[in-house]
This record gives sequence, structure tokens and C-alpha cells, in this order.
Amino acid sequence: MSRTEIALPQDALMVVGWDRPLATFFAQVFKAGTTSECRDDLCYIQQHTHRDCRDDLIDVWVGCDPRELPTLSDLERALGKHFEAISPELKAELEQARQIDA
Ligand SMILES: [Zn+2]
Repeated sequence: MSRTEIALPQDALMVVGWDRPLATFFAQVFKAGTTSECRDDLCYIQQHTHRDCRDDLIDVWVGCDPRELPTLSDLERALGKHFEAISPELKAELEQARQIDA
């Protein structure tokens, strides 16, 4: 299992990786504001992010089923514009993770 977090504009967040048991790439995109501090008083004191205590922040979630996205091209198709946030270096790492399992 590889798993990398990518900061997106407006405090949004993407998590991307290779799921070894399922043999698929996966990605979760969290909504804008996910990594900004909570406005709830208690959370604010503890400098929580929204992500620490909210569970309705996922905007996109792909790659949950076995062999759903077996190649980077499949991941690109599933992610659309969000795929651009993945650097060439990370794409190489993801491809390497996939090949180790091949
Ligand atoms: Zn909080």
C-alpha cells in the first residue's frame, strides 16, 4: 500500500496511492477547507483541521473495488482534472508501486 497526501488549492486535499490487496490505484479528494482549522471552539483551541472531526468532506473517492483502476491511465480517467495535481515524480513512484506487485 502506498499513500501520499497532496495539498490542493483552497485547503482541499487529495490522497492517492496503490492498494496492494485490491490491485488498484485509489484516490480520495477532500473538499475545499478540509485542512483549515475548525471553527468549533474546542477544536479551534486544539488546532484541529476539519478533517480531524468531520466525515462528510470527501468530494471524490475512486479505486475502492478490486482491479478498478489497474493503470495510471485508468486513474487519470477517473480523476479528471484532479490528476494534474499529481507530480511527475509521484506518478513514477505510483507506477513503481504497481510494478512491484505485478
Ligand atoms: Zn475539530
